[in-house]
Amino acid sequence: MTTDQLADRRQFYINGQWVDPTTPNDLEVINPSTEAACAVISLGSEADTNAAVAAAKAAFPSWSQTPVDERIAMLERLADIYDARSAEMGEAISLEMGAPIDMAMTAQAGAGSWHLRNTIETLKNFAFEKPLGDHAPGDWILKEPVGVVAMITPWNWPMNQVTLKVGPAVGAGCTMVLKPSEVAPLSSALFAEMMDEAGFPPGVFNMVNGDGMGVGTQLSGHADVDMVSFTGSTRAGVAITKNAADSVKRVALELGGKGANIIFADADEKAVARGVRGCFGNSGQSCNAPTRMLVERSIYDAAVQTAQEVAQKTAVDVSESQGRHIGPVVSQVQFDKIQGLIATGEAEGATLLAGGTGRPEGLDAGYFVKPTVFADVTPDMTIAKEEIFGPVLSIMPFDTEEEAITIANDTAYGLTNYVQTTDNEKARRVARQLRSGMVEMNGQPRGAGSPFGGYGQSGNGREGGVWGLEEFLEVKSISGWNV
Ligand code: NAD
Repeated sequence: MTTDQLADRRQFYINGQWVDPTTPNDLEVINPSTEAACAVISLGSEADTNAAVAAAKAAFPSWSQTPVDERIAMLERLADIYDARSAEMGEAISLEMGAPIDMAMTAQAGAGSWHLRNTIETLKNFAFEKPLGDHAPGDWILKEPVGVVAMITPWNWPMNQVTLKVGPAVGAGCTMVLKPSEVAPLSSALFAEMMDEAGFPPGVFNMVNGDGMGVGTQLSGHADVDMVSFTGSTRAGVAITKNAADSVKRVALELGGKGANIIFADADEKAVARGVRGCFGNSGQSCNAPTRMLVERSIYDAAVQTAQEVAQKTAVDVSESQGRHIGPVVSQVQFDKIQGLIATGEAEGATLLAGGTGRPEGLDAGYFVKPTVFADVTPDMTIAKEEIFGPVLSIMPFDTEEEAITIANDTAYGLTNYVQTTDNEKARRVARQLRSGMVEMNGQPRGAGSPFGGYGQSGNGREGGVWGLEEFLEVKSISGWNV
């Protein structure tokens, strides 16, 4: 296929219009299941970035003053459009990042709807203005939009990330420029169409494609951007923070993870299998994946055997096929990185139980990785420390509760940890000591409106619920409110 025959997604959405890039700079979007190009975008230049930021800046004075009920009504319209076009969204995500179609239609596309609806509920119950307290009757506290927000998002859960940012930012009264991942930009182009269809005033939402060195860096250093909301690697989060420092921007970071899953001997019988599947879900490409399985020694051998069986039964196939298999990883770069880390695991002496380097049988093209399990991993090994971002599980034994907590906390990250035990008191005791923004216990998912975010090098931001809304708000303290 020549570039001319590919789906053309070169345009940007700026000031309520679809516009051509100032300077053409084509980039092919690759279908990870086939390694073939499926669409073409353009990488923006500084002129495109400036135009988008100028549009957002110009729209801010009036959008920030709209009554919150109006903003909620627009978000409701957006959520209805999103739901009506959810199948298109699932297809776009599946094509651009390789999620199997059934999973893309449900978990991936569904995450967008879930976050938009939850944000609407949060907004309906949120007090943007309230008194300081009875002791100071003339003091009033106002929560006001922070201003122009640059949003920089990754490819692994594309709509999850975009809606977690756009929903609350719009609801807060901010205006914005979204730069989605250049690896998976198709879902965001569709999302921009939905924002257009919902009728947001020109300039409130803008979208420019680009890479990190180009549009990403231009946004993080831009004098007219008040805040950067970033989700992605710790490496990029550090670069963004440094570049944003000169203009004293607010920077909210959602970064990587290396979650520990502590399985005690008294855990429910499905805990090990659930943990393996949790690690392999989305082909291991989730920041909150439970990638380090810590197992109490008395059940270690049995757990290792179960993990091996689950891995061997985990099917891998192209994203177009229906079913509960896992798909490819997103790109050649990620594939090579994962292969290298699997080889390092073997070289450093971990016991390979399932998978290993190379593609699964019968899949000669596409970025397919074998579901891989290592046992006898020690905390000093590279695979115990680095975020692999592929279907690779590291299992290690522990003897005491204290040792499990020490190993779990022995990481630069701190996003999600997991605890499996039927002893409620122990579960709570351990949860309190884990240094992470989230702890999920016994397979119980976190509820609507709970905050998502990490400690340490997993970032400093919180998304979802009241916390996710407050990220986009300034606090104003006024005295003499009652004359
Ligand atoms: P990445 O950091 O390479 O890219 C993310 C985004 O940042 C892309 O849009 C990219 O173009 C942009 N970017 C890259 N370098 C930049 C720079 N110097 N300045 C400005 N922008 C830059 O990450 P990725 O490979 O797309 O995503 C995977 C990473 O995201 C993993 O580390 C994963 O753990 C993390 N992640 C975190 C969360 C969370 O909420 N904590 C959620 C999903 C993914």
